[in-house]
This record gives sequence, structure tokens and C-alpha cells, in this order.
Amino acid sequence: MTPKIYSSDFLVIGSGIAGLTFAIKASALGSVNIVTKKRDRDSSTNYAQGGIAAVLAPQDSPASHIQDTLEAGADLCNPKAVDLLVKSGPDRIHELMDWGTRFTTRKSENGKQVLDLGREGGHSYNRIAHAKDLTGQEIERALIHKISEIDNITIYEDHTAVDLLTEHQLRFITGDNEIRSDFITCYGAYILENATSIVNIFRAGITLLATGGVGQVYPHTTNPAIATGDGIAMAYRAGAEIADMEFIQFHPTTLYQEKYNGRSFLISEAVRGEGAVLVNSRGERFMDKVHTMKELAPRDIVARAIDSEVKRLGDRFVYLDITHMDKEFVQNRFPNIYEHCLKTGIDISREPIPVVPAAHYLCGGILTDLNARSSIRNLYVSGESSCTGVHGANRLASNSLLEGVVFSHQAFLHIQQNLDRKQDTSEIPDFPQWDKKGTFDLEEWILIQHNIEDVKRLMRDYVGIVRSDRRLERAFRRIILLEEEIQDYYRRSTLSSQLLELRNMATVAKLIIRSAMERKESRGLHYTTDYPEPIDSMKKNVILKSGREPEFRSINNVSFS
Ligand SMILES: Cc1cc2nc3c(=O)[nH]c(=O)nc-3n(C[C@H](O)[C@H](O)[C@H](O)COP(=O)(O)OP(=O)(O)OC[C@H]3O[C@@H](n4cnc5c(N)ncnc54)[C@H](O)[C@@H]3O)c2cc1C
Repeated sequence: MTPKIYSSDFLVIGSGIAGLTFAIKASALGSVNIVTKKRDRDSSTNYAQGGIAAVLAPQDSPASHIQDTLEAGADLCNPKAVDLLVKSGPDRIHELMDWGTRFTTRKSENGKQVLDLGREGGHSYNRIAHAKDLTGQEIERALIHKISEIDNITIYEDHTAVDLLTEHQLRFITGDNEIRSDFITCYGAYILENATSIVNIFRAGITLLATGGVGQVYPHTTNPAIATGDGIAMAYRAGAEIADMEFIQFHPTTLYQEKYNGRSFLISEAVRGEGAVLVNSRGERFMDKVHTMKELAPRDIVARAIDSEVKRLGDRFVYLDITHMDKEFVQNRFPNIYEHCLKTGIDISREPIPVVPAAHYLCGGILTDLNARSSIRNLYVSGESSCTGVHGANRLASNSLLEGVVFSHQAFLHIQQNLDRKQDTSEIPDFPQWDKKGTFDLEEWILIQHNIEDVKRLMRDYVGIVRSDRRLERAFRRIILLEEEIQDYYRRSTLSSQLLELRNMATVAKLIIRSAMERKESRGLHYTTDYPEPIDSMKKNVILKSGREPEFRSINNVSFS
């Protein structure tokens, strides 16, 4: 079979909340191709339990949501991005509802049905819209249904993006002085058809990357198998700026299981929001000695407290106890968690849940401005693969689904307002066909498996919740060796989605380690025993770009053209 060329006005890579909301909006401006590497709903979005934060209650205020977000971000958020996130939030939630999302409601005092707003760690008010504890699944269902009704959107499932189609050009800017500068333009992507191993060309005037997070680089993660950092690695290879990669959020409470199947089951923060308490193996509560907000302290503090408690007592887990709540309430408020735990033999209304922290969320990613533009022309980024600056050094719970809808909206607005600058697809240069003709045998498959495990082990052992200079340096030396080995298979083998994922995992692991090495202080999610306190002069972002030394600068006024 020969490779094919597909053309559309918009190419969206990823079918989680960020990709799908952008596709729905962009379809009003032109044709949209969505490529997604598994089934349409295989995304982190589909697993989100707790909900989506916005100022929706009369007693709440934007100022309070902004304050909570900035506080969680440990002085590293971009205040303009946070302002935008919070102020756009309520409209975006209503838009999701207009598109068919059914959030949980309750009867108010005056008999009206209103949103049942939950509360999570770090939030001063109840502001989390949720669909019981299956919020992401409900949003994903509604968005996919909405897309099925739109004629000019086509979804290609089981298609894995390999690399971006880009061209380096010289630009002349005239003003007082003529400035010559190098810039990169994106024209779509090379996409692997998983079933045939053929790499096709998807050309587009505008490309939006929405490939989600990187949790799979750690052995214990709440993220599904798709979260291998593909978009970030692709953008890095293409020359985009990447920021804040050292800030990995570990979710404090995932179900501890003897037999692990590649994804840790999340016990949502909302369970603590409803009054569950953490106790150690001696039955002692410990969060009250750590933080005034106790179990609802920011996630990094809870995760580190659990890590330290487990290490102190030589245990493998601590317990989360919600047995003081009525069984009917627990079953009704947390049906998914209740059923899942019951299947593993734990009735959470009667016995405490064994929990451990697991890699959960990446605050950094491809650097974007307030219009979701990356440093590559015509490449927009939204959702977990972007770094918009809203999370700073630590994400406030339930702000990430919100970030996806808000910045996909920003991308749409910007494109709509600059339609005259939209690239004519007939002007897209011809790109060479993918000329990879390799071989693939069982031995290589085994080596790929082993290398995936090597990356995960290295990240767990040296780049986890608690870091140090020595561990990071060791991790860096090892990841460079691994990268060389992987490059070697890559050159010799027929492409498979697994090999692509391994290559991307090694790249994002390297970016996480490199950024962590630069941050010689402890801030937010980055904690190192060598520099246990935040340092004022380091209130800046670590920015990485291929072929350039890491830069330490603020992203607060970033704007791309
Ligand atoms: C268990 C869990 C619970 C969570 N709970 C909450 C919560 O309550 N509230 C909240 O705000 N956030 C929550 N989060 C975080 C939130 O779900 C994610 O940050 C958000 O859904 C990310 O959306 P996204 O669209 O950026 O990426 P995703 O939803 O992960 O979608 C990424 C898409 O990209 C595709 N893709 C990836 N690589 C490629 C490639 N190479 N080629 C083609 N396609 C590709 C994937 O297949 C997928 O379709 C939770 C996350 C998890 C894992």
C-alpha cells in the first residue's frame, strides 16, 4: 500500500477535552481532521473523576478562585493566564452543558435544580461541577456525540502522530531597522496508520496539538496508556520551546494494589472533600500535624506527607477512611470508586482504603501564549501538553479540564480574528514521503519492552516526589545512554506505535530531568533535599529548546506571532 496525503483546514492531534472542544469550534471555520492513537475516548479526560472548577455559586467570586490558583502555584503562575482561566470558566461550563454534558444537580432551598458543586483541596468554596465521580467520562461522551453530528469533522482512530511537518524560514520584519529572524512553520504532521504501519501525510493550515500528559514515564500513574508525552516530544524535536517540565503532580491517594495493571486507580480528592481522613498503619491521623487544611492541604504537601509516613514506618501504604459517612451517601456520591474498590474486596463504607501516591499530572509542557500559540507558527497547543502558565509550580485541583476548554476557546478566537492570516492549504509545500523501510523482529520487541521498563524505573528511583542533585545527575547520564540505544532501533526498525511511544517517553523523561536539574530550590511540586526552601531569585521558568542550553526566564509576558 502506498502512503496517502490528507488535507484539511485544521488538524487536531488528540481526542480528549482539549482536542474535541477545539474541533467543534473550528468546524465553524473550515474542515477538521482529528487523529487519535487509540479509540476516540481513550484519553485522560475519560478518567477524570472529581470535576471541573469554575465560579458558579453566588457566594463565590473570581477573585477567590484566582487567589486559590495563585497560592497553589507557589508564586510561579502567570497571573494574566490565571485571570483568563477563571473569568472564562463559567461560560465554558455552560457551553459544555449546551453541548449535552449532564453535570450532577440538586434541589436548592427555593426548589430549583442547581449544579451540585463539590469542593476539593486548595479551593476556598464549593466550585467543582461534576457528574457524580465520572465527570470526564460524561464530558467525553457529550463531546464525541456532538462531533458525530458535525459533517466537516472526520475522526481517524488508531492513527499515531509521528512528527510535525515543519519548515524553517527566514522572516524580514521592517521597522526602524530591518530585522532578520529564523522561524519555523507547521503544516500538519506525519501520521502512522497503526494497522498497516504506513506513515501518511496529514496537511493542514493550522495544527492543534492536544496529546495530553506524560504519566506513563513513571511506573505508578493514574494516567491511561496513551499518556506518553508524544506531542511534547514531537514539538521539542520540531524546535518549539518547552517550559516547567520539572513540575509533576503526584496524586496522593491512589488505590494500593498488590497486582498492578499499568494504571493506578484514583481515589478522588472529592472523597477527602467529603470528610475522609488519612491514617497510618497504627491508626493515627497525621495530616493535622502537617498543615492547617489537614487532608485538604495542597496535593504536593499531602503526597509528601504520605511518602514520609510510609518511609518512617516502613509501610507500603497509608489508609483513607470514609467509614464515618452513611453507606447510602458513599454509594450515591462515589458509585465508581465504591464499585471498583468492592471488586478488589474493599467495602469503603465499612473499611479504610489502602492508598499510595502516583504520578498524575504535568504542569509544564509546550510553551504557549494567551492565545494558545506555540513558538512554531500555525501550531497551537491546548490541554495537558501545553504550558500556559496557569498552574505555575503546582496545579489546583480540577483546574486542568478547565484549562483545556478555556485555551481551546482562546485558540479558536485567535484564529477567527485572524482569518486573513489563515494558511491556504494549496500553498503547503510538498513534504517527502516517509522513507522508512526497516525490519522488525521479536528480539527488538523485547528490547523495546525492557527499555520502557528502564525509563519508568529510572524516573521512579531518581526523579520522584523527593529529588536530589546526585539522583538527578545519575538519571541524566542514564537517560542519555537509553536515548542513544532507542535512536538505534528507531533507525533500523519498521515503525510501530510502541516504538514511537518509547522514543517519546525517553525524550520527555530527559526534559523532566533536565528541568529539575536547573531548579536549585524547592518550589511547589519540585522538592529537592539539597535546596529544601524556595529561593526568591528563582521565581522564573526553566525553558528548554532543542540545540540550545536551558534558559531561566519568566514566561509571564510571552507572546508568539
Ligand atoms: C484518573 C484521572 C483523574 C483526573 N481527574 C481530574 C479532575 O477531576 N479534574 C480535572 O480538572 N482534571 C483531572 N485530571 C486531569 C485531566 O483529566 C487531564 O489533564 C485532561 O483530561 C487532559 O486533557 P487533554 O485533552 O489535554 O488530554 P487527554 O484527555 O489525555 O487526551 C489526549 C489525546 O491525545 C491522543 N494522543 C496522544 N498521543 C498521540 C499521538 N502520538 N497521536 C495521536 N493521538 C495521540 C490520545 O489518544 C488522547 O485522545 C485527571 C486525570 C486522570 C488521569
